[in-house]
Amino acid sequence: MAALAVGDALREAADVQTDIKWPNDLLSGERKICGILAEAIDTPLGRAVILGIGINLTENAFPPELANVATSVSEARMSARRTTTGSAISEAYPSSVPTTSWRRAPERMRAPDRMREAVNVSERPFWDDEIETMTPDARRRLEDERLGEQIAYDYATSPYYRSKLDEAGVRPGDVRGVDDLAAIPFMEKTEVAASQADGTLLGVNQCAPLDRIVRIQATGGTTGQPIRIGLTRRDIEDYGEMGARALWAMGCRPGEVVFECMNYNLYSGGLSDHLTFETLGAATIPFGVGHSERLLTMMSGLADPFGIWATPSYAVRLAEVARGLGLDPRAIGLRKGYFSGEAGLQVPGYREKVEELWGMVARDQYGTGELGLHSGECEALDGVHYGGLGFAVAELIDPDTGDVLPFTEGQRGEVVYTSIRREASPLLRIRSHDVMQVFTAPCRCGRTSWRFRVLGRSDDMFIVKGVNVFPLAIQTSLMTLAPQLTGEFQVDLDRPPPIDYPVPLTVEVDPDVPESRREALTRGVVERLQRDVNFTADVRLVGPGTIAAEGKTRRVIRTYRGEDR
Ligand SMILES: [Zn+2]
Repeated sequence: MAALAVGDALREAADVQTDIKWPNDLLSGERKICGILAEAIDTPLGRAVILGIGINLTENAFPPELANVATSVSEARMSARRTTTGSAISEAYPSSVPTTSWRRAPERMRAPDRMREAVNVSERPFWDDEIETMTPDARRRLEDERLGEQIAYDYATSPYYRSKLDEAGVRPGDVRGVDDLAAIPFMEKTEVAASQADGTLLGVNQCAPLDRIVRIQATGGTTGQPIRIGLTRRDIEDYGEMGARALWAMGCRPGEVVFECMNYNLYSGGLSDHLTFETLGAATIPFGVGHSERLLTMMSGLADPFGIWATPSYAVRLAEVARGLGLDPRAIGLRKGYFSGEAGLQVPGYREKVEELWGMVARDQYGTGELGLHSGECEALDGVHYGGLGFAVAELIDPDTGDVLPFTEGQRGEVVYTSIRREASPLLRIRSHDVMQVFTAPCRCGRTSWRFRVLGRSDDMFIVKGVNVFPLAIQTSLMTLAPQLTGEFQVDLDRPPPIDYPVPLTVEVDPDVPESRREALTRGVVERLQRDVNFTADVRLVGPGTIAAEGKTRRVIRTYRGEDR
C-alpha cells in the first residue's frame, strides 16, 4: 500500500484541510507506516471523518513514536469532527437508529489484523465518547429527564410500583430528579422472588407485555434466591451498549479472540455478556464452565494470542489444571483476562498473581444480574468506571439505617440502583447489598464517570465483637503471606451470631510449603488476621484446589443456617 502523509489522506478522502504532515519515514526500521485510510461519512449534520493508520510491527512492543502519532491523529479527527458533529448528532437521529452505527469503522478498515489494532488504538479512546466524557451537569440533566419518564412508565404499567408510590404518598410527577428518590421505599430482590414463587413468570416488576419480551434470564449470585428477569429488544441493545463501554475501558477491541468461560445456563454472565463482547466486535468463543482440560487443549492449539472472560479464581484454577497436565500456563497464548463475578482483582497482590501465572494483563469488571454488565476498570487502574450512565442511576446508603449518604469522593456505602431506561423488568431503588467506596474526582483516562471499589457484600459481611468484617479484608490480609498461601479461603460460620468465638477459617496453602512448616504458618495466619482485621480465627490449612470451584467461590458460609459449601 502506498504510504501517504496523513494530511494528504485527509484531503483526498474527505476534503479536510489540515496542516498535519507525518511522512512515512517518521518511524524507523521495520516499524513503518504501511497505510493510511481516511473515510468520510455523511451524517445528517454534515461530514465526519474516521482516520486509521496501519503500522508495521515486527514485535509486540507499542513504539513510543506511535503514541505521539495517535494523539495527534486523534486531535486531527476531533477537530474535523468538531465542525460537523458534537452532541447534536444523537439528537438529530431518531431513537431507532443507534447513534453508534456511524462511528463504527467501515468494513474496509477492518483488515488486516495488525492494521486494525493500530486503527482502533488511535481512533477511539472510548466506546461512546459523547456519554463517557459528559460533564456532571449534562449527566445530571440526562439522568433526571430519563428518571422522570421511567417513573411515569413504571407507575402506568405495574400495580406493584403504583401501590409502592401511592403508599409513600409520591406522585410520578413529584420525582423530578435523583434527589427525589429518597421518598420512595427500597425494593428487595426477595420481593420479586416471592412474587415469582407461585409460578408467575416475571413477577411484580414486569412492566412490558410478554409479546415484547424476547429473553428471560435468571440472576446468579452466591447468596439468595435467583429471580427471573425479562428483556425486550431495546433492553438487550442497551445491555450491549452499557457492557461495551466497560469492555472497551478494559482494553477489549474488535479483532480480539475471547473465550467466554462463564455459566451459560440461565445467567446473564453467559449468553448476555457473550453478546456484549459481540456488540463490541470481539470474536467470542462460547465455551461455558467446566471441561477445563478440553479448554486447555483448545487454547494450547492456537498460535495467536487470545483473551478470557471468567472469574479470577477460575483463572487460578485453570493454571493448576494446566500444570497437572504437564502444561506451562505461560506457554499458552492467554494474554488478556477480563474478569468478573468476584472482587478478587481488587485484593492487593491477586491481580499480580493472576497476571504472573499466565503472563497476561488482567482487568476487572463489575455488574449485577438485575442490571447487567456495566462497569470496567481503565488503564489507570484507579477504580472501576461506572458504565451505566443513561441506563441506571445509583445512590449510596448506610446498609444498617437505610439513610442516603452524600455521593462524594471517598464515600463508602451500599449501592442502590434505579433503572432509568428499562422496559421489561425495571428496578426502583433495589438494594444491591454491595458495599462500595466511590470516587468522583476526574480520572486521567478522560472518562468523567464516577469510579468505585467494591468492599464486599453487606450480607457477606459478618460482625465480630462489633467490628464489620468483609471477606475482601481477609483476602487482602492473607495475600501478604503469598506465595506460601494461594489467597483462596472460606469462612464457615457454624454458630449463630453473636460471633464471640474464634472464626473457623479454611485457608489454601501452596504445595511447596513442607508439612513441617505448616504449624508455624497457621500461627502466622492467625497473628496476621488479628493484626489486620482485628479478629481471632480458628485456621485450618488445606491443599490448593480444595476451595476454588469452577464457578464462583463463596467466601462466607453460614452452616448454622443450613447453607452448603
Ligand atoms: Zn479511567
